[in-house]
Amino acid sequence: AKDGGRHAASLYSADIDRWGTQRLKLRHEIRPAIELQQFVLHYQPQFRLKDNTIAGAEALVRWQHPKLGLLSPAAFLEIAEASPAINELGAWVFDEACRQLALWNQQGCNLVMSINVSARQLGNYSLPEMVASCVRKHGIDPGCIKIEITESMLSQDFSTAETVLLKLKELGFRIALDDFGTGYSNFTYLNRFPVTSLKIDRSFVQPITHDASALAMLNGIIGLAKSLKLSVICEGVETEPQRTMLRTTNCDLIQGYLTGRPVPPDEFFELFLPNRRQ
Ligand code: C2E
Ligand code: CA
Ligand code: CA
Ligand code: CA
Repeated sequence: AKDGGRHAASLYSADIDRWGTQRLKLRHEIRPAIELQQFVLHYQPQFRLKDNTIAGAEALVRWQHPKLGLLSPAAFLEIAEASPAINELGAWVFDEACRQLALWNQQGCNLVMSINVSARQLGNYSLPEMVASCVRKHGIDPGCIKIEITESMLSQDFSTAETVLLKLKELGFRIALDDFGTGYSNFTYLNRFPVTSLKIDRSFVQPITHDASALAMLNGIIGLAKSLKLSVICEGVETEPQRTMLRTTNCDLIQGYLTGRPVPPDEFFELFLPNRRQ
């Protein structure tokens, strides 16, 4: 048993070591990977609750790594965010999502594209200029772009974030507060920052079918958001009973595995854009 324990322990540290080395390698591979076009965007649909029509998509980044296969953000995003390369990756994501949106909208779809930005990007005064030139380049109305931020970003560098968000709103972009309900959900953020919609995290959404107080809480949050004239989207909707329960609330949009997983653009087009012009 003693031997087995030691063996297990050494295996464990070897794993950590390997992961450490892996992280370091990945970190240096991010910049070249942008050039080599190894990053791809998958898109997840968002639907209107009242009539099941498609309202938009969220762009979610993946890394098609030549040795490790398709990596999800959990495998590299934290690493990227610790490096200045996150600004280049963020700019690439924005450009690619806008290019795709312009294409779909030319095909007769009227979608809003949700794009995630990282804390580093939001702490950078040049973000509004970058995104404004991007929509101009692709001939897109800024109102078709919804920039997703999280609360934790706002607590980090309050005044820069405020300046950047005000500028983005002035330019006509939509702004969503993402992951609402995780961490310190603070309603003062809703009032203080110029957000236009609230995206409620799945941890608030999923219990509503079996927990009456969870549903009461969700209704309270939605009511407050509505009184602030915000649109509301619930994420992580996985089951039909959850959707049925959400129909009793004032929620506007839903996103989740029930109505569609994140998929590559051609698959998105086939699956979710039936009213497109051929
Ligand atoms: P997020 O912004 O909260 O995105 C939603 C995540 O939940 C996605 O994971 C999505 O695949 C997953 N999801 C969607 N529907 C369901 C559902 O019904 N159930 C469950 N359990 N999960 C669902 P993904 O694609 O792995 O992305 C993880 C996170 O990485 C995102 O969370 C976002 O914070 C970040 N991220 C993704 N793409 C980008 C990007 O381009 N830039 C930045 N800065 N962050 C990104
Ligand atoms: Ca998001
Ligand atoms: Ca989220
Ligand atoms: Ca998240």
